[in-house]
Amino acid sequence: MQHFPIFLAVAGRRIVVSGGGEAALAKLRLLLKTEAHLTVFAADPAQEIVDWAAQGKLTLARRALAAGDALCAALFYAANEDDAEDARVTRLAQADGALTNWVDNLGQSQFITPAIVDRDPVTVAIGTEGAAPVLARAIKSDLEARLPVQLGLLARIGKTFRKAVEALPMGRPRRDFWSDYYFKTGPEALSQEGEAGIQTRLDALLSDHLSRDSQPGRVALVGAGPGDPELLTLKARRALDEADVVIYDRLVAPEILELARREALMINAGKEGFGPSMSQDEICRLIVEHAAQGAYVVRLKSGDPTVYGRLDEEVDALDAAGVAWSIIPGITAASAAAAGIGQSLTKRDRNSALRFLTGHDVKGFAEHDWRGLARPGEVAAIYMAKKGARFLQGRLLMHGAAPNTPVTMVENASRADGQTLATTLARLPADIDAANMSGPAILLYGLAPRDAALALPQLQKDQA
Ligand code: SAH
Repeated sequence: MQHFPIFLAVAGRRIVVSGGGEAALAKLRLLLKTEAHLTVFAADPAQEIVDWAAQGKLTLARRALAAGDALCAALFYAANEDDAEDARVTRLAQADGALTNWVDNLGQSQFITPAIVDRDPVTVAIGTEGAAPVLARAIKSDLEARLPVQLGLLARIGKTFRKAVEALPMGRPRRDFWSDYYFKTGPEALSQEGEAGIQTRLDALLSDHLSRDSQPGRVALVGAGPGDPELLTLKARRALDEADVVIYDRLVAPEILELARREALMINAGKEGFGPSMSQDEICRLIVEHAAQGAYVVRLKSGDPTVYGRLDEEVDALDAAGVAWSIIPGITAASAAAAGIGQSLTKRDRNSALRFLTGHDVKGFAEHDWRGLARPGEVAAIYMAKKGARFLQGRLLMHGAAPNTPVTMVENASRADGQTLATTLARLPADIDAANMSGPAILLYGLAPRDAALALPQLQKDQA
């Protein structure tokens, strides 16, 4: 981010504009929405500016800006549409201590003006660092269409009611009240009774919420998918949106954590590198503890929570504590990896069964039905296989698997930094060592990428 978005307090402060043509007019139309004191310096101002000055909406000085004219200004716009003049006035305004914007000159501007969706006091600012004004305009018109015009009015009325709502306990009860107001009762009251009726409805709504018993906590065990936020389910998305507490695993992508409700308490339950790690008991205790306090806890696990997710231990703990829970499935790494290499996990005349294996379990390397797996055409998705690759290879070859059985290691499936290593059983351990993968990786045994061009050079050598 080269520009950091903030909302500047401008009520009662000076904003100075130098210029009287189209560029100045465009900025002034926006600035007139603020409660700032506007001063325009223009030797030859457009008629609208003259009119606004006559109506007392701004102060007009019919001359070019001089030193000292921008003293005490919060913001300054150089809008003369003349490079030499804009350079001159920008220098002067900076000397006066104002933050300066040179219209349509990103490089010479200390701040830039975003595209704005105005539902005052709700304001949406859209910026693209000057890279794609077309995109900003498209997003703006999309939001304009989507946000009800009455939103601003609802927010203004809601603001006057904030103090009264403090009678509700903090956290969920207050949030429930506000979401009821903004999305149900408020719009309803506005459309039926207009602004006048809303106060009575707000009073009734508040006493209704005050008389409610506090809601019991609950837990959703949610699959975060393989990493790409677009692979979240709509249910997972909604759970993140509503969560009071999110307890997440190490492998959950940061872009997904970003989607959690801003006020949610975020707890990292997985170890990162050599950092501290939480024991499973401790995780269970935390989930139960927060739910017991009435929170909506989202237990966020990578992929699908029912696949190598230690789900049962947590569900047992919740049952023992009498806490209500539900499971929201996710896309497991195997599905994402198969999609990434353009293959299906089952295929007529090749494999009608598919196995999920893990390279190692709590006891170390995991034992499996190696003989069954060694038969031609078998396919398995092997989780946590990196460390156990040599062991897997040894067992499979010993039980008669063909050395040239295709195996594909997919690291960071579905993520922008995803990598594919296509190799054979014979070369698996050596190729994994050479590839030096540090992200989560899954091994697709019995599958090669459909598009060989996607694969690393090893595969092309194999085929040559
Ligand atoms: N519940 C998860 C699996 C958790 S076990 C799921 O359904 O996907 C952790 C293992 O999952 C990792 O060691 C790795 O083998 C695999 N894994 C998770 N995310 C992955 C990803 N984006 N790409 C490749 N493998 C991944």
